[in-house]
Amino acid sequence: MAQAWAEDRLQTGGAFTSEPDEITTAKMQFFLALRSRGVNDPRVLAAMEKVDRGLFVRGLFTSRAYEDVPLPIACGQTISQPSVVGLMTQAAEITPRDVVLEVGTGSGYQAAVLSHLARRVYTVDRHRRLVAEAQGLFDHLGLGNITAMTADGCYGLPSGAPFDRIIVTAAAEDPPTPLLAQLKEGGIMIVPVGQSDAVQGLIKVTRSAQGFEYEELRQVRFVPLVEGLGSE
Ligand code: SAH
Repeated sequence: MAQAWAEDRLQTGGAFTSEPDEITTAKMQFFLALRSRGVNDPRVLAAMEKVDRGLFVRGLFTSRAYEDVPLPIACGQTISQPSVVGLMTQAAEITPRDVVLEVGTGSGYQAAVLSHLARRVYTVDRHRRLVAEAQGLFDHLGLGNITAMTADGCYGLPSGAPFDRIIVTAAAEDPPTPLLAQLKEGGIMIVPVGQSDAVQGLIKVTRSAQGFEYEELRQVRFVPLVEGLGSE
């Protein structure tokens, strides 16, 4: 049902007129869950209201798109838990002037949320297939301020640097040095840090003239940041 609805949405350009009641209820619960888990910045909530997560989840899991859980996507990766997307976006304190780099495009959901808050969003993934699928959705949704590229995000994106904000959506053992170097003075980076199979700490890095400041925000669990490009 939800999948048929999502397909219908894609074909009708996202018109809300044919939305079944159960989807409307699921979406209301989705926003209640975001708020109850600490996503309370009105700009972030407004951006998340503009992006239908149902379009970014495919196949079997479409019916669970409005639950506050991470879900499997192609290439063995996951679309992040929505409340974590909200909390990371909120912690990044994005302003409409900002140029943002996201490392780990995945489904494209986080980048789509960022595109409503920032001036320009660069997003990179090591899997070509994920970048192509996400690009298809960005085009469909008319999100023209996103540039999606296949690249190893461990090295950042020198061609777009420096960045006002960097959001890493895969866990690194340490904040990658090239990413720190590509962060502007006054910039903020949000990055999960820790071993891939353990609980990781979500770190907020703030760069000032004096150097880098690190603050642990909460515990999270992300797929690992892997060096090199993927096979598909
Ligand atoms: N932000 C995504 C979820 C990302 S899951 C969303 O909103 O759906 C983490 C992603 O990081 C995966 O797609 C994985 O392929 C990617 N990734 C892991 N290591 C990477 C690297 N070195 N460079 C770029 N992307 C990487």
